[in-house]
Amino acid sequence: MEQIVSLCKRRGFIFQSSGIYGGINGCWDFGPLGVELKRNIKNDWWWTFVQQRDDIVGLDSSIIAHPSVWKASGHVDEFHDMLVDCKECKKRFRADHFNSDEDCPNKPKCGGAHLTEPRAFNMMLKTRLGASDDSAVDTYLRPETCQSIFVDFKDVYTSSRMAPPFGIAQIGKAFRNEINPRNFIFRSREFEQMEIEFFCRPEEEAQWFEQWMHDAWNWYLGIGLTASKMRWYEHPKESLSHYSKRTTDIEYEFTFGWGELQGLANRGSYDLTQHSKHSGKDLSFFDPDKKERYTPSVIEPSAGADRTTLAILCDAYYEEQVEGEQRIVMRFHPRIAPIKAAILPLVKKDGLAEIAEGFEKSLRKKFATFYDQGGAIGRRYRRMDEAGTPYCICVDYQTKEDETVTIRDRDAMTQVRMKMSEVSAWLDERVSPK
Ligand code: ATP
Repeated sequence: MEQIVSLCKRRGFIFQSSGIYGGINGCWDFGPLGVELKRNIKNDWWWTFVQQRDDIVGLDSSIIAHPSVWKASGHVDEFHDMLVDCKECKKRFRADHFNSDEDCPNKPKCGGAHLTEPRAFNMMLKTRLGASDDSAVDTYLRPETCQSIFVDFKDVYTSSRMAPPFGIAQIGKAFRNEINPRNFIFRSREFEQMEIEFFCRPEEEAQWFEQWMHDAWNWYLGIGLTASKMRWYEHPKESLSHYSKRTTDIEYEFTFGWGELQGLANRGSYDLTQHSKHSGKDLSFFDPDKKERYTPSVIEPSAGADRTTLAILCDAYYEEQVEGEQRIVMRFHPRIAPIKAAILPLVKKDGLAEIAEGFEKSLRKKFATFYDQGGAIGRRYRRMDEAGTPYCICVDYQTKEDETVTIRDRDAMTQVRMKMSEVSAWLDERVSPK
């Protein structure tokens, strides 16, 4: 993981938040390449699950909701981790991250061998809304994006004329006061989720669960994750969350070990029923064909945009020897690579830079491109390898004669020559999602 963290900082994928003040635990900033990568991941997810399907619609709800939402959802009473304190060094740990008979993980430093009994710690981040002390209300930054989907369920289906089986998707920030943020961006206190609540008839929930296992898994393959580094983890019945009838996670083998990439839960009718009860508003659905009113069941694929980005970074990272030198290359799938093509003049002089610059400007209208004329061509290729740019287009002396360029493939390091007029269609074929 150290190499990946260092590359992320060096090349501007991810920085520690508030770095010049010593950083703030569990918060991260995405730099110029990182923001493109994460945005491409989120856009691909939205494109796949919302824009390409006629049974899912989108939502972008507020981060701060009415405090009653969190009471109804069970988060005020149930959303906690068990934590233990070291009596010696006062550090806090999640009780489920080690055995109860183990010593403080910080023991070599603190010498402490005594941990307190586990106690519940609510992970929601509190905030206060309103200017004056007497009128201000305590509420929370949302710990998951899905609750407003349930709260807005009726507004969405009536305004969009959707009927079960259908889903509502949302991408957005979520906040959790994690006891031990760690493993780079894997466990943060501020992160982004990509969630779908899929509403169906209760008798169809098992069938939709299977369908979602299939669809969710395939999306990860589509953006380039290696299948052998993914697996399913079925939660045992006794450890299911209060709302879940069944949960199975897609796990990924990160460089620090296996970790949850996304959860898939059968939430039954728990959330709609709870919000109906607490708000006094009916959130059931009337099926006009069957002339029957029912509360839909919900299947929830809930993915993390940051964890997906981290999995993509781990999967793409390769170190190899090329002609006696080390090459670091990020093998991003072209579909999500931050830069699709770099346009490089072989040398700055003899009019090559002008041709390359003009060509880059014309491609920029359609693709995320990058122009670089500084340094030896080999060094420029290496910089683009580290940025994960799948194609480097070189303008050389032959370009002046016959309007052709070479295109270097990042992974194979082979080159093809083609007419400049054919490059746009050639790129489109390779970098656009299908
Ligand atoms: P974990 O067991 O790792 O704490 P969880 O089961 O609490 O995760 P969910 O509530 O199912 O996670 O959230 C859905 C998804 O949101 C997770 O699969 C993950 O991708 C993402 N996620 C949850 N917590 C965090 C976090 N602290 N940092 C980054 N991503 C997170």
